Amino acid sequence: MEPRYVNLTPDELPERWYNILPDLPEPLPPPRDPEEGESRVAKLNKFLIGECLKQEMSQERWIEIPEELRDIYILAGRPRPLFRARNLEKALDTPAHLYYKAEFYSPTGSHKVNTALAQCYYAKKEGYERVTTETGAGQWGTALAYGASLLGLKCTIFWVRAVYSWKTDRRTFMEMLGAEVNASPSPKTKAGKALYDKDPNHPGSLAIAISEGIEDALSDDKAIYCLGSVLNHVLMHQTIIGLETQKQFEKFGEYPDIMISCLGGGSNFGGFVLPFVGEVLRDEKKIRFIAAQSRVAPNLQGEYRFDFADHAEQTPLLKMYTLGHQFQMDPIKADGLRYHGAAPIISLLRHHGYIETVAYPPDEKYVFEQARLFMQTEGYLPAPESAYSIACAIDEALKCRDRGEKKVIAFNISGHGFLDIPGYREVLKL
Ligand SMILES: *Cc1c(COP(=O)(O)O)cnc(C)c1O
Repeated sequence: MEPRYVNLTPDELPERWYNILPDLPEPLPPPRDPEEGESRVAKLNKFLIGECLKQEMSQERWIEIPEELRDIYILAGRPRPLFRARNLEKALDTPAHLYYKAEFYSPTGSHKVNTALAQCYYAKKEGYERVTTETGAGQWGTALAYGASLLGLKCTIFWVRAVYSWKTDRRTFMEMLGAEVNASPSPKTKAGKALYDKDPNHPGSLAIAISEGIEDALSDDKAIYCLGSVLNHVLMHQTIIGLETQKQFEKFGEYPDIMISCLGGGSNFGGFVLPFVGEVLRDEKKIRFIAAQSRVAPNLQGEYRFDFADHAEQTPLLKMYTLGHQFQMDPIKADGLRYHGAAPIISLLRHHGYIETVAYPPDEKYVFEQARLFMQTEGYLPAPESAYSIACAIDEALKCRDRGEKKVIAFNISGHGFLDIPGYREVLKL
């Protein structure tokens, strides 16, 4: 019988992350300052962890994962299996071979632990006592709270109020990990207070919460800010997903023709595909890469230009596909996909034609129905964001059925949905 899945042993865990910067088709435009106001670029080294800032600019293709951190990755359940979706293939009656990477085995529920653990490891090594951050869907906040607790750091989280208000179980999860959790905009920071005073029920946005996290860290020498997506070093930490997947495909004796994942800021998509993109850039392989998005935030269909990463314009300008840093987005259950810009690395690759994108309707009905089909055939409950990855993989598998093509389709399931049941219930009217 064909194997259901392939996994690696802990000693096969990758020893190095892949840094795509030296392999990009043109140098990545560096962060830039706006024409007016103080230098944001100069401020970067005040609010980013030193080692992460170094990695952000590094031209080294391979960066070693410290042994102590590899040990913690193993504690967090890495390596994670790559499954062949045989049941789903059968249900779809497709000749395509479908494979999914199981980031849903993460202890907090998402791939974000891969960078949270790395950032907390370096923060601790550099003598910080507290980490601050923003969170949207809540997955990044939980991942950082988890990393902070394993590495003995305090953790302060600013959580987009629209989500904070309904995800009470996830809030308790973060608090059980020892984190302090604030609804954003909060009265705790200047950036938050300006909006909070006007409307204490302000739904907030990721961009506003980022401003709050940065301001909080800048006001305390012992605190450092951590960002869960978009930046180069974050995508690099996430390449552990794709590097494992490469080894696993070798063991399966197949190779993907199409790779798919959902994209909010670009970290799980980047982590999954970048090692493979490297092979395509070196002309060793031909693979299509598709990013699945929501029509409320189709950032990859925005403009390719310099824009701020946050609402209050505290970050430098990054060259990226953006909808505008003050773009208003309707709420959706897959809240992790609500971000105005795509990571500069992903944006540059899209600009050069390496990355395709699809955006699904705001009601999420179709997407969640595909998640349900996945659950009923493969048995795993995906995060609402990961449902987009599944829907896109199913769409491609159905095209293969209609054309009689036997493509190999790999998709990443960035997280589980155990704490997102109310969202599924509402959309699927259960
Ligand atoms: C945060 C999150 C995303 C979106 O963020 P990316 O940086 O684009 O990966 C997707 N899936 C899950 C489960 C998330 O928690």
